Amino acid sequence: MSHLPPSRHSFGESVLAFDVGGTDIKAALQDNDGVFHSLQRVPTPRDAASPGEAIIREVSGLARGYVREFPQASVRALGFVVPGLVDEQAGIGIVAANLGWRNFPFARRLREENGMLPVAFGHDVGLAGEAEMHVGAGRGLRDAVVLIIGTGIAGAVFCDGRRVRAGGFAGEIGHSPVPSGTQCACGAYGCLETVGSAGAIVRRYNERTGNRATGAEAVLRAARAGEQAAREVWDQAVAALAEGICQLAAVLGTEAVILGGGLSQAGDELTGPLVRAVDSRLSFHRRPDIRVSTLGQDAGLMGAALHARGMLGEPA
Ligand SMILES: [Zn+2]
Repeated sequence: MSHLPPSRHSFGESVLAFDVGGTDIKAALQDNDGVFHSLQRVPTPRDAASPGEAIIREVSGLARGYVREFPQASVRALGFVVPGLVDEQAGIGIVAANLGWRNFPFARRLREENGMLPVAFGHDVGLAGEAEMHVGAGRGLRDAVVLIIGTGIAGAVFCDGRRVRAGGFAGEIGHSPVPSGTQCACGAYGCLETVGSAGAIVRRYNERTGNRATGAEAVLRAARAGEQAAREVWDQAVAALAEGICQLAAVLGTEAVILGGGLSQAGDELTGPLVRAVDSRLSFHRRPDIRVSTLGQDAGLMGAALHARGMLGEPA
């Protein structure tokens, strides 16, 4: 059908997908074949007085734009994911530290503002993880952990084929303690993300050297060039991540750890030493395969779309 002009493209049953992040909102229309159209990013609106309503206004405006742009698509549902602590069943954003809302009824407000269109609501990393398990690097697995490593570390835990939610509290692997951890912004001491995140790699390297590296990639480059401080900071991050992964392997019998987020772009330079470090610490345990996400930055959007299609098993 590729010879048809865009206006004749058969969209079939379509859904709208939105992924609200700390800096921008990603949006797209997904057609019946799972293809995204008009993928766009707009800055996340900030409104200290009513942060939740500001998001509703922005997303509802985008949704109307898609309906105008694709009159031939029949939009069946809207999928919507946000960061922070989330009650997926109740459709509520409980708290998002840097976006400011508290107990905001996202699912209900979106339905009201979009002609009572069904809304599938979820946690961004939880649904990014679902997307990896359904159509990405975790396809076919039942016991896996998706780790998104960027400024911090967030996770989605799958056991016996189901995501562990625990009322929104599960998956905070970045805030589980490791021996090398230090004081964390969350208030606890020793959290994994104080050593093993991309943010920690940059901060620790700059503290040690007085340099002004702006990304973990620069630290990796320096390590590759033989700079001692960079090598140590990188190796310490790998060791801390290995400690976290070994806990998962021992407690959950994890088959695979799927790495996403900025740090996963280091590819083999991250996974190689990580596999060796994990291997050296385990004995009889099931050894988790360590892989890189195949959906990358679109995982959250894909999770929102799958959820909107009712493909994630549990109703919103
Ligand atoms: Zn913490």
